[in-house]
Amino acid sequence: MSDDPIKVSDETCVGCQLCVKACPFNAISMDDKLAVIDLTQCTLCGACVPACKFDAITMRESTKAAADFSAYKDVWVFAEQDDGVIQSVTYELLGEGRQLADDLGMQLCAILLGSGMEAQAQDLIARGAEKVYLVDQPELTYFQDEPYAAVISELVLRHQPNVLLCGATTVGRSVVSRVAIATGAGLTADCTGLAIDPDTKDLLQTRPAFGGNIMATIQSPHTRPQMATVRHKVFKEAEPDSARTGEVLLQEIDKALLASRTKRLSFVPEEDNIVNIAEADYVIGGGRGMGSPEHFDILHELAEVLGGGVSASRAAVDANWIAYSHQVGQTGKTVCPKIYIACGISGQIQHLAGMSSSDVIIAINKDPDAPIFSVATVGIVGDVFEIVPRLTAELRKVLGK
Ligand SMILES: Cc1cc2nc3c(=O)[nH]c(=O)nc-3n(C[C@H](O)[C@H](O)[C@H](O)COP(=O)(O)OP(=O)(O)OC[C@H]3O[C@@H](n4cnc5c(N)ncnc54)[C@H](O)[C@@H]3O)c2cc1C
Repeated sequence: MSDDPIKVSDETCVGCQLCVKACPFNAISMDDKLAVIDLTQCTLCGACVPACKFDAITMRESTKAAADFSAYKDVWVFAEQDDGVIQSVTYELLGEGRQLADDLGMQLCAILLGSGMEAQAQDLIARGAEKVYLVDQPELTYFQDEPYAAVISELVLRHQPNVLLCGATTVGRSVVSRVAIATGAGLTADCTGLAIDPDTKDLLQTRPAFGGNIMATIQSPHTRPQMATVRHKVFKEAEPDSARTGEVLLQEIDKALLASRTKRLSFVPEEDNIVNIAEADYVIGGGRGMGSPEHFDILHELAEVLGGGVSASRAAVDANWIAYSHQVGQTGKTVCPKIYIACGISGQIQHLAGMSSSDVIIAINKDPDAPIFSVATVGIVGDVFEIVPRLTAELRKVLGK
């Protein structure tokens, strides 16, 4: 009898090819109407098993239950701080983490690195963390890849969390990928949805794939912790409640973990990025239709009247009309303002990925068939150079500015 970890029954396989389509690793082919699994390509991810409507594919029980994860407990949130200020994505993760922890029957914990952070630890408790693992060291005052990754990896190995969530920010993406390598865990980047599988209790991590054309749900059933970075502004922030109580667990660490080959000399904020578009309530986006960098001035004027920021499509950024930090979309920032005004932006799927959850979208485009109109709350077919200055003038009057 074959001892293969995964098998296809030649009695029940009907040659429908559903498993071929379900296999993300192209490990299944058809041979005379029978599915054949190439074990040199197969990663035993198990995607083909539920895809088969005829129960023709079976995985050996011992393969499915190879690892014992019973020691892995709790949902951890990496509390990102900048100059001692907890970043709002942390509160969003605590809000979503609460639901996940409740679904798992586990505790919600935060992990905080910095110097003199006791008050911030209490803030995390007020936002729902039942435990805060605090590492308080002067070397951790500011984020640096190497010591942050080394300390978090050490705490992960010491306490064995079941889930570790991080903001999909520059800091989060940078540090957690190192932690995933150091701890041998799976990591899903840039998630927009999280849930617990009611049967397996695995974390279901949903993110856009193939240029935003499909949503993929990813699991890490063979490793722990299950790690995900989550996009800013996707989840609602956990509300603070000062009546909440929790434990702050000060963690001793080996000083060797604090070594870094880089040193922070100073911090120079980007000059033309005074308004953080990821946090702004009003965002004015400019695209290729703006025609030149000088023409962005009319967008800055409108943004100033509204008290908002200016964003851009990748086409405008690639043309060097505006800095990358303003780019919105799949490879830029995600924004979720009260009003997003898209000026001369066609509305390709990669741009929509970063702004379609705005409360109100106003699109100004001279092409009535531009795809941006399909997501717009209000669509204005016309020339941005006529409409934007008029809009700014009217708003100046109405707002008394
Ligand atoms: C892997 C990948 C990742 C990507 N990531 C991103 C991303 O993060 N963000 C992003 O934005 N794009 C991204 N893109 C690029 C994306 O596919 C589009 O090419 C880009 O968004 C187009 O920018 P645009 O709408 O400014 O330009 P265009 O598509 O050229 O549209 C310009 C629009 O301006 C209108 N227009 C012209 N003149 C005027 C005028 N005077 N008044 C009014 N309207 C006018 C036109 O009718 C047109 O609709 C990515 C692409 C790939 C392949």
